[in-house]
Amino acid sequence: MAPMRIHLLIMSLLLVGCIDTAPMTVEEMNAQLGGGPTDGPICSSEELDVLPPETLRMHVIDVGQGDAIWIQTPWEVDQESESHNVLIDAGSAGDHSNGSPGGDIVVDYMLRRGMEFGAPLHAVVITHAHEDHFGGLPVVASAFEILRYSDPGGLIGASSFLSARQAAISEVLSGGGSVDSPAADTLAASLFSSVDLFGPRVSAQLLWAREQSLSGNVDNLSGTDVNNTSVVFALQWPPKGYANSRQILLMGDLESAGEELLLLEAASASHTLGSHILKVGHHGSSTSSSDSFLAQVLPDEDANRWAVISSGRQTFGSDVTLPTPQTIDRLTDRLADYHLLSTANRDDEKAAGEEHDDDHVVFTITAEGTVTGCYAP
Ligand SMILES: [Zn+2]
Repeated sequence: MAPMRIHLLIMSLLLVGCIDTAPMTVEEMNAQLGGGPTDGPICSSEELDVLPPETLRMHVIDVGQGDAIWIQTPWEVDQESESHNVLIDAGSAGDHSNGSPGGDIVVDYMLRRGMEFGAPLHAVVITHAHEDHFGGLPVVASAFEILRYSDPGGLIGASSFLSARQAAISEVLSGGGSVDSPAADTLAASLFSSVDLFGPRVSAQLLWAREQSLSGNVDNLSGTDVNNTSVVFALQWPPKGYANSRQILLMGDLESAGEELLLLEAASASHTLGSHILKVGHHGSSTSSSDSFLAQVLPDEDANRWAVISSGRQTFGSDVTLPTPQTIDRLTDRLADYHLLSTANRDDEKAAGEEHDDDHVVFTITAEGTVTGCYAP
């Protein structure tokens, strides 16, 4: 192992604080971290059980093939503001071949990590009308009280999406909650302007959401058409304007045509896309995360920069499984060792049915701007 690699490894472990205080040998560290492209540190119990004040936590829940991202916003000791819970996507329903029971996994995970049954979920956003993002919504809605609901709007996607959306909206409204759909018209004054979805303390902007397809297709929308309607957010904690502010970029399933336009629109809005946590677009597909996009988002190997892929081991069409090796290479080229994490980590070595609910990825951002990522079982 090269000296630089050992140095980075030791730095990562110190930052994460995930190891006993007794010094470890390099061999012991390797045994813990492994050598796969998405291997990484294991979370300590503090990183799982307690949300300290002035700390943002983001859980990328291992729903197999799909997305479900739980954000706990910072709470204050003095001013008594509470942490908000926001869920971006709800995983799959798991009632089709290869599908994981995303909604059940989300609910079980959140209950395990301190949410109470029936507790308020301050907001749920379904980034776009694909089953691996909305399928778990009914189960989530039956377990928690959703105060706000948002999606890209439009009459997009299959009838199963429209019925899941309608049921969620009815339940939210009957409970006195509110609905922000279409997201682009209701969440923010315009793209790149602020949204108040993530509580009073976190800065956030809506960067992308389309009610209509980019291609102009109206009927028979392709998978790419629907992916490119994705709701995309940038979040900053500590808030925008602070020297140690860190940015999270949540890409949904936006593909490269959307990324190209996003780069142009970010430049004209003077929004710096450089990020400290990138939720990689479209499960690490090679149709997202273009070189030109990653050059802006991950401009250097700052020790606070991380990326995370949410994926399973489902095979699509002509034997494509996500994430693709090309995308993993593009990301690892731009990140420090052990800073690319994936809910599909080593899934290819596992039996069918054992690939989900075992690689949850947890990020923590402190008030000082230190970013750590780790795997939770
Ligand atoms: Zn997806």
